[in-house]
Amino acid sequence: MCIFCDIANKQAPASIVYEDDLSLVFKNIRPSAPIHLLIIPKKHIDSIDHIDDKDEALVGHLLCVAQKVAKQEKLSGYKLVVNVGRDGGQEIFHLHIHLLSGWNNAKDRDIIHN
Ligand code: 5GP
Ligand code: ZN
Repeated sequence: MCIFCDIANKQAPASIVYEDDLSLVFKNIRPSAPIHLLIIPKKHIDSIDHIDDKDEALVGHLLCVAQKVAKQEKLSGYKLVVNVGRDGGQEIFHLHIHLLSGWNNAKDRDIIHN
């Protein structure tokens, strides 16, 4: 169990923007873009380094959720970022996709966040 499991189980607060049986999307508590969402599986998986064949559909589902939320939030463009492992900048070891959007100019957008 971890903080993102707690959020998925509604044991910790979060600003949730989308939920289905397999996944949850909520606002990053410390955004590094005007719109900064985190897409997680409800099931705990440490990182992309820890997925196996049986997780293929679930990981694909998370990308479909990214698209769905982008449509829901009327985003005209966005970046998806996945940090993998401590040396990849991962701090929370519950698999998550960063969805970043909402910049006013290309300079801010093209600084790589997270
Ligand atoms: P990572 O570096 O592991 O890829 O990203 C973890 C992200 O989770 C960070 O951007 C951080 O701001 C965010 N985060 C950490 N703890 C919490 C929390 O309790 N609630 C929310 N909403 N975001 C969190
Ligand atoms: Zn977890």
